[in-house]
Amino acid sequence: MATRVTFIGAGNMAGAIIGGMIDNGFSPSAITATSPSDAFLAPIHERYGIHTNTDNAAAVSQADVVVLAVKPQVMREVCEGMASVIQRRRPLIISVAAGLPAETLARWLGGDLPVVRCMPNTPSLVGAGASGLFANAQVSDEQRRLATELMEAVGLVEWVDDEALLEAVTAVSGSAPAYFFLMFEAMEEAGVKLGLPAETARRLAMQTAFGAAKMAMASDKPPAELKRNVMSPGGTTERAIEHLEEAGLRRTMAEAMDACAARAREMA
Ligand code: NAP
Repeated sequence: MATRVTFIGAGNMAGAIIGGMIDNGFSPSAITATSPSDAFLAPIHERYGIHTNTDNAAAVSQADVVVLAVKPQVMREVCEGMASVIQRRRPLIISVAAGLPAETLARWLGGDLPVVRCMPNTPSLVGAGASGLFANAQVSDEQRRLATELMEAVGLVEWVDDEALLEAVTAVSGSAPAYFFLMFEAMEEAGVKLGLPAETARRLAMQTAFGAAKMAMASDKPPAELKRNVMSPGGTTERAIEHLEEAGLRRTMAEAMDACAARAREMA
């Protein structure tokens, strides 16, 4: 029988994973999503052909995997409300909620459960996410494989063996789409100062970022070497890179990521 997956919460992140799973051949009939509102669930049922339910406890009663995809502020109430059914069924729990430790989630669900914590990022919404995953000691190899398969439906998956490293993942990928959006803003503004129409500068900057990422991912050369390959001695790229290095881009990035990880620790 197909693995039955229930999503608690049917918002952006759940919708992205569900869409990715179905695109990857997962049967819609094995997926259920919940939300407090029937009106909200109807279009999701319509779009994906999955089961929907407004009753979380009923929805998890037959589940092999339960994906917790509600906002962190309602998580405790949601978990406690289905704890007794979860304890009877003992499914794999996967949480995509920021900042809530596996141990806390397991406790709210009645204790001693296999829990995978996942730190996804917003490009998951377009199938190009990057997720860091951590499994507690109760998670079996088979359940790890399953969690990998589910999260790979929306992009890259990397496992970390220490839960605290999810704070580093937050700095490197969770929050990082915004670093690149800031870079696009800055490049567009600078392109306009150099005389380009804003739209032209924006499109060129975004396509260049996409191309650079694609090229780096297809290559076995480290980024430092790819960078050197674009720089001819005394040329235009060298001048720009020298300026970025002298202005302290590396230090600024390290400080920003330290601040991000520190904030993730405070919120845990
Ligand atoms: P969202 O779009 O607001 O979705 C949350 C969903 O939970 C909504 O469908 C909401 O329904 C539902 N919900 C609220 N109370 C519920 C309850 N008692 N029982 C069942 N469902 C309930 O939020 P999101 O962006 O998908 O985020 C979900 C989780 O993913 C969060 O914990 C967030 O930290 C994590 N995350 C998201 C992203 C991202 O890119 N979006 C990235 C990293 C992590 P109503 O709308 O009817 O209230």
